[in-house]
Amino acid sequence: YIDQLKNGQNNILVAIRCRPLNQREIEKSEYEVVRILDERVVVLIDPYYESNQNDVLRKNRNKEMQFAFDYAFDETISQVEIYEKTSNFLLDGVIEGFNATVFAYGATGAGKTYTMVGSPDNPGIMSRTMNQLYYLIQQNSNQNHFVVRVSYLEIYNENIKDLLSIEDKNLDLREDPSQGVVVAGITEIECSSTQEIMALLKVGNRNRTKEATEANEASSRSHAVLQVQVEIKQLEQGPQEEVKYSKLSMVDLAGSERAANTSNRGLRMIEGAKINQSLLCLGNCIQALSQIQEKKNSNLFVPYRGSKLTRLLKDSLGGNCRTVMIANVSPSVLTFEDTYNTLNYANRAKNI
Ligand code: ADP
Ligand code: MG
Repeated sequence: YIDQLKNGQNNILVAIRCRPLNQREIEKSEYEVVRILDERVVVLIDPYYESNQNDVLRKNRNKEMQFAFDYAFDETISQVEIYEKTSNFLLDGVIEGFNATVFAYGATGAGKTYTMVGSPDNPGIMSRTMNQLYYLIQQNSNQNHFVVRVSYLEIYNENIKDLLSIEDKNLDLREDPSQGVVVAGITEIECSSTQEIMALLKVGNRNRTKEATEANEASSRSHAVLQVQVEIKQLEQGPQEEVKYSKLSMVDLAGSERAANTSNRGLRMIEGAKINQSLLCLGNCIQALSQIQEKKNSNLFVPYRGSKLTRLLKDSLGGNCRTVMIANVSPSVLTFEDTYNTLNYANRAKNI
């Protein structure tokens, strides 16, 4: 499969990651409704199957639902392994000037931040991807000169905010003929090590919008996007100087739970609708892109303009860009509806 990806036949990889039950879930003696088979297939068991037989809307669901993905990882997957099997494949494109994106999708508490950031002694995707990028840069430093610049932003209620600036203002998107989509006026910091980038991430996270909701007090209602710009300058210069740019975006998406699941009203409800709007739009874009790839039908409309998130990532999804989506779920019976929605969302994005 990775060979197919590398040959450019398939640029979208969709993986599911199921976290272990947490202490609270174990204490409530909750049982698990998710089973992973063969690192590819997810079986979801509907705990409400019997009672649904009286419900017209849910009657046609099966008791056991099966979904197949490029990868399905159970709770035993390590941080290293998940990195090696997913976002590692983005990097040889990035080093050659192609954009790439990795997303963590899922409900609040499902493990998105654990997957992307992890902990200092067991880091996640972001830090491992950067380590490998710096390694590749070093390996290629005989032919090219590389400059890495980092920015970190959040999208909250369809507004873009610079997380590396103390100024609290909304930023605009522009399209630049040579650099693609640009966030006007955003802070970009030149970094030469993963440590520097992780330190910036820490600073930025203190500026993130966190509002208490009844569903989860520390729940994050915004999309956090770490963007790494790579400038690639050939050392041996021909008749014209060649400079290439690539952009690697690593996105910790807002919680995908529906606003209707909480007793949120007013601002929180609008927020929920806007989160759903951009997640829905992202799903529609990825689905259109994988259909274009599958059918080689390049006339299909990709609705990038439907949300800030997809406008920002317009030049980083589709075409020669590689995309990884890691959809996170909890195995607990309590989160069945969220898991069901997440698996359906990820199922639309895949291309197999
Ligand atoms: P999210 O960002 O989706 O809201 P988190 O990443 O914060 O969720 O995860 C919620 C809790 O579960 C955290 O305490 C985190 O450490 C823990 N957790 C998540 N995924 C795993 C995992 N794969 N293994 C162990 N603990 C995990
Ligand atoms: Mg989180």
